[in-house]
Amino acid sequence: MAEDIKNYTLSELKNALSSKGFAPYCAGQVFNWIYAKRIENFDLMTDISKGTRDSLSENFYFSKLKISKREVSLDKTEKFLFELNDGASIESVFIPENNRRTLCLSSQVGCKYGCKFCISGTRGLKRNLAASEIVNQYLTISDLIGRKPEPRSGGATPRFDGALRHQSTGCARGIPEKAITNVVFMGIGEPLDNFEMTVKAIRIFTEHKGLNFSKRRISISTCGIIPQIEQLSLLKLGVKLSVSLHSADDKIRSKIMPVNSKYPLGELMKVLRNFSESEKYPVTFEYALFGSLNTSKLDAQKLIRLLRGTNCKINLIPYNASQGDFKQPAPSEVEDFCKELENAGLFYTLRKSRGQDIHAACGQLYALWG
Ligand code: SF4
Repeated sequence: MAEDIKNYTLSELKNALSSKGFAPYCAGQVFNWIYAKRIENFDLMTDISKGTRDSLSENFYFSKLKISKREVSLDKTEKFLFELNDGASIESVFIPENNRRTLCLSSQVGCKYGCKFCISGTRGLKRNLAASEIVNQYLTISDLIGRKPEPRSGGATPRFDGALRHQSTGCARGIPEKAITNVVFMGIGEPLDNFEMTVKAIRIFTEHKGLNFSKRRISISTCGIIPQIEQLSLLKLGVKLSVSLHSADDKIRSKIMPVNSKYPLGELMKVLRNFSESEKYPVTFEYALFGSLNTSKLDAQKLIRLLRGTNCKINLIPYNASQGDFKQPAPSEVEDFCKELENAGLFYTLRKSRGQDIHAACGQLYALWG
């Protein structure tokens, strides 16, 4: 039975090709055609012999993702809804900001971790994505973002409907080179819970014969799964790690993020310090400021104590919605919290949520189209 070639890393493809009697060096050529030249047609891979191309066509196929909807936010953030072969849906978000164009990828259909502020986790985990489904989010969107979505009549939010294929004719024209500058695993799902496929996708993204994506421009965002962080540390992939923290108090964090009961802060911080030492790179902590929940002076002081001496960056994100126990913080709460960190000499970035109006902000995915 033919297999999806986009599920293979370069070294796996070399092994697969040699086990089928092909010269392993063909793997590099194939990789270069698919990911660098963006050709998905073996007949057009002209530096490979005709016999080998025919055999490749018999043994492998190119998977595609079907886009069901494309929505553009007032701040130019774009959200894409993909329909998978089994009918499940995932979303990806493209966030342009000055010279930085970030693509936020999903790694699972749903999520089992149930963080209370996150809509992605409300329906539990349906299944892991294959590496090809992760990589295809990138390939499809990078092919599209140079094109404007069709405006709907009446001036409503522009949308794009229908299946899209990239270069089915083998024509790579129109693909904006290096359009996406950063990739973050921060969409639907916990990437470290789909460890194997996340790592495989990263190996495909960073393969120099293919997309040649810089490792330091790829970031994995986790709720803090200790065993997989340790595993990641051993692999030394060179990618960035970002941790959803949201409180430096075990009691509060466990309320917001049930995963904290299993992997509490003390143990989590130990493995994160090891990770940052072995990668020689700071870990990023995401701290959403929820009104009257985690923004007091005491909360700030606990955060300062927890992170002191750790090689890290802090992203503060004032929550910009109202849902259940979570509400937007008052401007004075944000200001006072920031002042505490500044006085302690902790470096932080105050960020705003992007794509709020189309439900593309952090924790909002799977809200309308699941
Ligand atoms: S924040 Fe991440 S880990 Fe938590 S429920 Fe949402 S997708 Fe899952």
